Amino acid sequence: MSDELDGTGIAASGPRLLAGSPIAAEMRVGLTRDFAAFRERWGAAPTLAIVLVGADAPSAVYLQQILRTCDRVGVDGRLVEIGAGVTSDALCEEIERLNADPSVAGIIVQMPLPPLIPLRTVIDSIDPAKDVDGIHPRNAGLLSLGYDGFLPATAQASVEILKRSGIEIAGKRVVVIGRSNVVGKPAALLLMREHGTVTVLHSRTRDLAHHTRDAEILVVAAGRPGLVTGDMLMPGVVVVDVGINVVSDGAGGEKLVGDVDFESARDVVGAITPVPGGVGPLTNALLLSHLLRAATDQAESGRWAAGPAAGRLSGGPAAASARNAGTSR
Ligand code: NAP
Repeated sequence: MSDELDGTGIAASGPRLLAGSPIAAEMRVGLTRDFAAFRERWGAAPTLAIVLVGADAPSAVYLQQILRTCDRVGVDGRLVEIGAGVTSDALCEEIERLNADPSVAGIIVQMPLPPLIPLRTVIDSIDPAKDVDGIHPRNAGLLSLGYDGFLPATAQASVEILKRSGIEIAGKRVVVIGRSNVVGKPAALLLMREHGTVTVLHSRTRDLAHHTRDAEILVVAAGRPGLVTGDMLMPGVVVVDVGINVVSDGAGGEKLVGDVDFESARDVVGAITPVPGGVGPLTNALLLSHLLRAATDQAESGRWAAGPAAGRLSGGPAAASARNAGTSR
């Protein structure tokens, strides 16, 4: 079974863990250096505005991780908290204010939004030049056409973790579970760009296991804990588990799990990303590499200006940024 796939590095004692944390740590070193160079040249660190509307548990998890990564590399992470009862007009006005704020180089809007807020109006209102998580139609269109734009960082991370782990994608049967605009769909496009033969599954797919058992690489982004179990997998498959779910730990607390039932999958897979510590940390590092690119573009075109972040960060950690070290765009 172990030789069914190339480059998976199956260990006799268990699956190879594709850890994102060490890759992210290496990227953060470069980002810290590059944001320092940015600050040296332009006088302050750029701001990443994170818009949180209402709150749900996975959003809170991402948020803490993103703010921590900002802090580590010397970026000003600005949390913009908005009550769940906000109207879509008021939310768009807030985004317009951030678009116009010359110290804000990047804007992300935490998903999911409350059901009464139309997603389309929100994504349309973000300035594409500040859309560092690639949700604006312009960036989504560029991705689908294969041109440069900002990539959705989670989708990019799910591909990047394979590439940086030396796993060949070209020619492989790749199955993606999930077709959201932020993860599943862009991941499928990026995997096609890497010459995988891609099948996309979703909630209306009949007989999920029929498709998953055919996968040489399986990317799971459904937000359903335990959706994929070991009996649904081909021996030796490489699994990227994008899911982040907060579940009970059985002892009165909570824990994070992915969409794959790790216990039943571990003896079948050739390699798998852990949750936590897999796609998540890489996502944040890639997001900040996008911020560096956005800030640099804005500074060079005269759009960016040091704001209050300059004072706050001047005595703080090495305030610096990094280059977009991510997937080819
Ligand atoms: P989403 O918008 O809810 O989309 C989920 C997708 O999964 C949809 O396409 C849905 O199909 C499909 N799906 C749901 N249940 C299914 C089932 N039983 N069988 C087959 N497909 C099913 O979620 P998302 O924003 O893409 O996020 C997906 C997961 O990634 C979540 O766990 C989220 O927390 C996680 N996430 C992780 C990171 C990270 O940094 N690691 C970042 C963002 C998100 P339909 O289209 O038919 O509804």
